[in-house]
Amino acid sequence: MTPTQPTPAAFFGHGNPMNTLAANRYTQAWKDFGAAVAKPRAVLAISAHWYINGTAVTAMPKPRTIHDFFGFPQELFDFDYPASGAPDVANEIIETVKPMYVGLDTETWGLDHGTWSVLAHVFPKADVPVLQLSIHGARDAAYHVELGARLAPLRERGVMIVCSGNVVHNLRRIDWQRPDAAFDWAIRFDEEVRGIMTTNPGRITEVVEHPDYALAVPTAEHFLPVLYLAGLAKACGKPATIVTHGYDMGSLSMTSYGLDAPAMKAKGGDGSPPFPDPRDIPADDTNT
Ligand code: ZN
Repeated sequence: MTPTQPTPAAFFGHGNPMNTLAANRYTQAWKDFGAAVAKPRAVLAISAHWYINGTAVTAMPKPRTIHDFFGFPQELFDFDYPASGAPDVANEIIETVKPMYVGLDTETWGLDHGTWSVLAHVFPKADVPVLQLSIHGARDAAYHVELGARLAPLRERGVMIVCSGNVVHNLRRIDWQRPDAAFDWAIRFDEEVRGIMTTNPGRITEVVEHPDYALAVPTAEHFLPVLYLAGLAKACGKPATIVTHGYDMGSLSMTSYGLDAPAMKAKGGDGSPPFPDPRDIPADDTNT
């Protein structure tokens, strides 16, 4: 009898919400990832867009699709991701991470676009139950790595942990003239994180001292999800692999990582613009 393989985990750089409806090399990589893995029992999504003063997990049987942005085409507001929830898994998560505390959210949140913009491609049929874990905005990097590590046993029970953010995310520095390229500081920081994630993810907290951290991570919410994958990687003693990488509009990195992921051909730099029409995004939108 072969030992059971842990369910793969991933961090996806989600970028523009319009990726939900787009077909580009990033969405193709997400799709390929989903198609290559066995259907999990549930997805636990850790999205940049549920960034609150506490750690909680959604526990409603039918989570709503939250359209947490503005200034986008109606078709994005019409998008629905009808995955069911999994209250039983929510309770399992609370028990698993003890003595760390995770609250139960039965009515507040649902699925935000950090989750469904990616899952629309990974599991397009919405036939896997999905829960979300909030990101505690008042905790330091070490807390998020530790909580990520404590989630590791769930991978032995068929739960796929999907972290969604962007390693480099500075909307105030967006440059429309660089649809598929990045500033030097963005590349330096993304490469630093890539070097650590693919060799020794337990060192990830060191990047807060990196000289380009302040520009790459002006606010923490999009960066923090990668710390959960680093914690999971640390817990199993394996490095992450690259699912896809690239840059968008100068100040976003689209790098995605996997753990125990199916072999993926790292994609990037094929010259195709990643988004259909970047002018649809307000320059000052902090919800991307
Ligand atoms: Zn976002």
